[in-house]
Amino acid sequence: MAKPDDSSLTPAQLRAVEERVVSLLNRSEAWGRVPTPLEDILAAAKLRVESKSLKEADGFLAFLKSKSIAAASMAMDTLKAATSAFGKILGICDSADHAIYIDDTVNGSKQTFLTLHETGHHEMPHQRRLFRFFEDNDKSLEPDVAELFEREANNFARHALFQGDGYAKMAADHDLEKGMAAIKKLGPKFGASIYASAREFARTNYRACLVVVLNPSEYAFGVGLRAEVRRIEASALFKAQFPLPQATHITPDHPLGSLLPSPKQRVVKPRSVVLEDFNGARQECVAEAFNTTHNTIILLYPTKALTKTTVILPPGFKQAVNF
Ligand SMILES: [Zn+2]
Repeated sequence: MAKPDDSSLTPAQLRAVEERVVSLLNRSEAWGRVPTPLEDILAAAKLRVESKSLKEADGFLAFLKSKSIAAASMAMDTLKAATSAFGKILGICDSADHAIYIDDTVNGSKQTFLTLHETGHHEMPHQRRLFRFFEDNDKSLEPDVAELFEREANNFARHALFQGDGYAKMAADHDLEKGMAAIKKLGPKFGASIYASAREFARTNYRACLVVVLNPSEYAFGVGLRAEVRRIEASALFKAQFPLPQATHITPDHPLGSLLPSPKQRVVKPRSVVLEDFNGARQECVAEAFNTTHNTIILLYPTKALTKTTVILPPGFKQAVNF
């Protein structure tokens, strides 16, 4: 079963978050400037990146002590608990001091997301009223994080990163058969990872399409290739037409089994996959996979959803699909 999604905010909560993002993008005049200009965002939020030495949480604790911050002991307890449970701290927002701290050992797209996530904590007044410090680790950034404030900060970061429906509008210009290319192109354009780009592509697409993110493929004895399902993201139209995959792992006997790349294989070219829709009708779909080395992205769409009359199929695939 795929993990639940971060869209578990209520429509009112989501709207409140999005209003804060709109306000910040307005103040920083960031609309249409991609990747979202972080310096202007931080300036408009009156935040500074104080230090990037978060290699160890202890470094931050020492910093707090050195500043004799009264709340340090409380923050220390939180930090220690968070660190022991989920590994190292990657980002901190000290909203009273208008400072954020980002671990500069993680990759660029993650630093961008962390920066926007910490900015989100600072920009949401109800959060600042309750807490001075926010400490984040890998768990905070996961879509299924339990804490409401983390889900709000993640949605804030996503909305700021993709500039509302800015990404969706650009994705809409690409035919689905060029979808994987669009995912790979639009990710870096917005300063996002391929993983985040793929999720945004599916969740905001007005056509029927599905993205399945897998952990890297492995060889399992007696099974062959096998990969754990990390995340499933489907467009609203896909969800209205098809049940979502429920398997925790994809193996060769699964309908998506032919999309598993071997560990060194980067691309699985488009191929036909048959899926049954909610009415029990078998529908021909096209699916392809891209191995980022961190994970495998599968993009699938029913060919019925295509507007063009031909589909690009792999060499050796003689028959075009007619609509
Ligand atoms: Zn957070």
